[in-house]
Amino acid sequence: MTVVSHGRIASCLCLTILALVFQHASAQARFNGAKAYEYAKSFSAIGPRWPTGPGHVKAEAFIRNQFKHDQLEEDTFTANTPIGPVLLHNFIVRFPGKKDGAIVLGTHYETNYPLRNINFVGANDGAATTGLLMAVADQLRAKKLEGYSVWLVFFDGEEAIQHWSASDSTYGSRHLAAKWGGDGTLGKIRAFILADMIGDKDLDIQRESNSTGWLVDLVRQAAKKCGDERHFFQSDEPVEDDHLPFVKRGVPSIDVIDLDYGPNNGYHHTAQDTMDKVSARSLAMVGDVFLETIRLINQR
Ligand SMILES: [Zn+2]
Repeated sequence: MTVVSHGRIASCLCLTILALVFQHASAQARFNGAKAYEYAKSFSAIGPRWPTGPGHVKAEAFIRNQFKHDQLEEDTFTANTPIGPVLLHNFIVRFPGKKDGAIVLGTHYETNYPLRNINFVGANDGAATTGLLMAVADQLRAKKLEGYSVWLVFFDGEEAIQHWSASDSTYGSRHLAAKWGGDGTLGKIRAFILADMIGDKDLDIQRESNSTGWLVDLVRQAAKKCGDERHFFQSDEPVEDDHLPFVKRGVPSIDVIDLDYGPNNGYHHTAQDTMDKVSARSLAMVGDVFLETIRLINQR
């Protein structure tokens, strides 16, 4: 596997054409996979980030510091878990746009409580997508967006505290979806795009079957435009993840996830989930597809 250290050389064709059409090529957003990788590396270097643990406090501080000049909102709440009440922290970063409504990109950032004793750093599972969204933010903060606002959400408590079930998982997304359902915020969301475990060097993103059809089609269209369609949706699989509380409330949502990580999925939820299994190129591919998907949603 070739490691590309300065962004993606064979980049999204559509962006290249756009860059040619518009003279100011340097102003055209191209996703920086190397930067996303660097963020993910620094974030995973914090170590395990399980709720109630010392690494989690550092992870919160990392996010606060990263977005200290942006519109950062902290959504702190107490979750009832099998180990009792646990204080959790979602983070929301808003980049305003000119169109009425918002596109939400999400990830979880914490690691698993049950894996707290095996040095599980979740390089791909949590850190990679946190880095992805941080690099997306770098491209959004320059000026007011022409299209919809883009909100980035860093969810806490995605992983089960004990055993995965409807009540022991996705604490942060269930909390935020309920809160935003109550105060009318959900009505502003045009699309919710969740990223999970897409840093895998061997990228094969499943078509998650609980996701909204038109949004899946749009992501597929974006992947095709970027020349990356072979990495997207070659197989179908239902996955329970942070998108479900939004799906259930009628928000168009997609989980962009690669749940096939390592030989026989051997790196998933093990101490093997380290940065050497993650690639800047995979992050660049998904970043390019996300930016293109945002553009397509703005055109709808
Ligand atoms: Zn996980």
